[in-house]
Amino acid sequence: MSENLYDLLASRFPKDRSQPCFLLGDGTAISYGDLEAGAAHVAGRLVAEGVAPGDRIALQAEKSPEVIMVYLGVLKAGAVFLPLNSAYTSAEVDYFLGDAEPKAFVTDPPAWVAEARRHPPLEATVARAADDLASLIYTSGTTGRSKGAMLSHGNLANNALALHQAWGFTPDDVLLHALPVFHVHGLFVALHCALLSGCPMVWLPRFSDAEVLAGLKRATVLMGVPTFYTRLLANPGFTRESAANVRLFISGSAPLLPSTFAEFEARTGQRILERYGMSEAVIITTNPLDGERVAGSVGYPLPGVELRVGGAAPSVGSADTSPASEGGATGVIEIKGPSVFSGYWRMPEKTAEEFTKDGFFITGDVGRRDPDGRVWISGRAKDLIISGGYNVYPKEVELVLDELPGVTESAVIGVPHKDFGEGVVAVVMGEGDEAALIAEARRQLAAYKAPKKIVFVDALPKNTMGKVQKNLLRQQFAALFAD
Ligand code: AMP
Repeated sequence: MSENLYDLLASRFPKDRSQPCFLLGDGTAISYGDLEAGAAHVAGRLVAEGVAPGDRIALQAEKSPEVIMVYLGVLKAGAVFLPLNSAYTSAEVDYFLGDAEPKAFVTDPPAWVAEARRHPPLEATVARAADDLASLIYTSGTTGRSKGAMLSHGNLANNALALHQAWGFTPDDVLLHALPVFHVHGLFVALHCALLSGCPMVWLPRFSDAEVLAGLKRATVLMGVPTFYTRLLANPGFTRESAANVRLFISGSAPLLPSTFAEFEARTGQRILERYGMSEAVIITTNPLDGERVAGSVGYPLPGVELRVGGAAPSVGSADTSPASEGGATGVIEIKGPSVFSGYWRMPEKTAEEFTKDGFFITGDVGRRDPDGRVWISGRAKDLIISGGYNVYPKEVELVLDELPGVTESAVIGVPHKDFGEGVVAVVMGEGDEAALIAEARRQLAAYKAPKKIVFVDALPKNTMGKVQKNLLRQQFAALFAD
């Protein structure tokens, strides 16, 4: 039996294919029937052009329903979808095209789909096994070369079904989709939940607080990055009433500040559900739909996911990380499960380094489990600071600073320091008195953890997925302790 993801998704489309799939800003809709036909024509064109199962099809374009027609058509034809961030420069794109060697590169999906409609639709989906490659996702790669995570039909199908169940999706839902579709969050997590429910999506090309506010009147679920929530909260028009139609607000891709969680609850009466994932495994843990959602924790592993805290953070990258305690120790999170990717495209050595001998993927995220089994993430291993021989987990310091007056958000980094190796620096969005903040941090934390310097900025650099780009901050402030 074919385990092509396309067939699973299409088997859940509404029986009445005239039901809307995309609700567009101009008041029009694109139905499930239109989506299915578009995908079949795309697949027909691909096959006519000689695309064989396993061939890569790259796409770099602005978000549109046609991007999804191309994505689904690629799956239907048995090919491999390779989405590229629309912000990549041509030099960056050249690297991906050289590495993945796609058979086609789509840059204008509406025109590409219009041309595809001149080809007969492909009737039968090309059979694929669960292990066959469905998509290649290049990681954002803040250090070293960007790596292509190989996700199979089985990886994506398993995760989609688990999330659909965990978050209680039904055909009565309306998903507000304002995420980019070149990243796993918008392309797999959000889209697959909607398609498996056969429900409509309020389809926004990008986040705009005014459009999201309008869309929330119809939506029942919003999936976003933390920045969506801080931007909504900054809009006085966002009230308890404007959130009243929504049954579930989900956040991920970057840490949600406990202060955002609290402010959101105070404003709307609703608790944001935070979950944790990555390109290499899609979603790994989630807070519960029906149980307690705890601020700062990313919840429990999804069914079928084995999660453990491995060796100490500095040993990341060693294939020998020893399975470690479940007793609340902090270390690098390791995972195994049906959605964990099979490896990095054409990088067998890198792949071998990032899996343990017993088959766990070393995520590179540092975290711990509490006695209830909840997972807490304290940052990326590569962001760990070693100052005077002591490990400083930036998150611990950031949590203290974020509570201090004048601080909106902080990012704690290590920069070269001639006595300590690395000196702890806090880059603070907000304003205040440096000496007073440092004194307060020293009162609450061991002295070696407290920042030696604080730099005030108007905004922290964040990428489209809301992640603070600490590599940029480290570069910018590299000479802070130089004499
Ligand atoms: P990406 O592969 O671009 O999706 O990035 C994955 C990384 O984002 C993870 O390895 C984490 O470091 C981070 N991340 C995702 N969700 C969360 C979350 N809820 N809290 C903290 N970090 C997160």
